[in-house]
Amino acid sequence: MRQETIGNIVGNIRRRLEALREMTATPGEGVTRFPFTEEARQASEYLMGEMRAMGLAVRLDPSGSVIGRLEGERPETVMMGSHLDSVLHGGAYDGAAGVVCALEAARMLVEDGGQPCLSVEVIATNDEEGSRFRTGLFSGKFMLGQLSPDDLKRQHDADGVSVYDAMRQYGLDPEAAASPAREDLRAFLEVHIEQGPVLEAEELQIGAVSTIVGIRRARVVIGGRADHVGTMPMDMRQDALETAARVIAGLGDAARSLPNAVATVGNLTVEPNIMNIIPSRVAFTVDFRGVRRADIDAQYGGLLAALERETALMRTRYSIEELLDAAPVDMRPELRQAILASCARRGYAAREIVSGAGHDAQVFGARIPAAMIFVPSKGGRSHCPEEESSVEDLARASLVLRDLLNDILEGRAAL
Ligand SMILES: [Zn+2]
Repeated sequence: MRQETIGNIVGNIRRRLEALREMTATPGEGVTRFPFTEEARQASEYLMGEMRAMGLAVRLDPSGSVIGRLEGERPETVMMGSHLDSVLHGGAYDGAAGVVCALEAARMLVEDGGQPCLSVEVIATNDEEGSRFRTGLFSGKFMLGQLSPDDLKRQHDADGVSVYDAMRQYGLDPEAAASPAREDLRAFLEVHIEQGPVLEAEELQIGAVSTIVGIRRARVVIGGRADHVGTMPMDMRQDALETAARVIAGLGDAARSLPNAVATVGNLTVEPNIMNIIPSRVAFTVDFRGVRRADIDAQYGGLLAALERETALMRTRYSIEELLDAAPVDMRPELRQAILASCARRGYAAREIVSGAGHDAQVFGARIPAAMIFVPSKGGRSHCPEEESSVEDLARASLVLRDLLNDILEGRAAL
């Protein structure tokens, strides 16, 4: 493997990130690049040009991902990359940073010459965030046969356009969702910004993701009765908000008692929400995350027990609807070790870290060996225009990714 200078990599990363930053629906107000839009097409064509220039065979896959392929001695494929779409008014690094790091790792592989034993693909995935259709992790699910054409007809954007129709308008065939899953993939490698404050606070340059958290999410409605606040005695009223407050108050401490677990209540509405009427209806969502399935289920069970207990005590009633149940996904230990070993050789400060956010690597990681390399986020900021990571750290991540790829191709990292 040739020695590569950080300076050369930094220049390429900066140039590509600056180009992609301009491909947004909200100029001057962060990056907004939703799937199947003109901005998505512009960014895809730009990346295709960059991939072609470095000698990769380029295609748009059936889900709208951009793929650049280097054919190996065998057709089995190691895939590396991240997503090209963004949230509304997001930053220039979430997703795009991982794409440009994978491009650099591929460039170094190509310039080293020779044919790798396995094929290598750089991918910029589509609709990872789910911002337009409330979907998410789209390309991985599409590629692995987890979506049907009917699923694509069911999800709509705010204008009522289905994924199915948006794909057709973009020039893709949504019926391809019924095609067999890709069976050639042997590993998925992703560089991503941390989107949290931990690596920066500990003055680390690289994080090797151990686990991507699992999520259980539910919507709770508590029913009470609207009455006069002055005339209804405390032991006879049915106060939906007091019930909700008693339930919600316990969730944070329950999460704090478990390692790497979090609980968050959101989207709270109170009816009638009037100063002198007892609240008759309260609705809220709960989002539980954790690295162990049992911890997530314990949190969920605690919520159900609290709802039973408090509604009985407060003479109210409840209903609960589960919105999401995604298991935690471990990154492959052998690949984590290879990342940490590369950092040690190169003198980069690194450690293992849990990912509290979802990523494409979780879809792939449930099926094939997967690895994630995290880069610090300044101030822990993300999903906002202020999002930033150092290009030097991204260059380091590109080198670690190149090392990891090499370890896989040369059989040092077992798959
Ligand atoms: Zn992301």
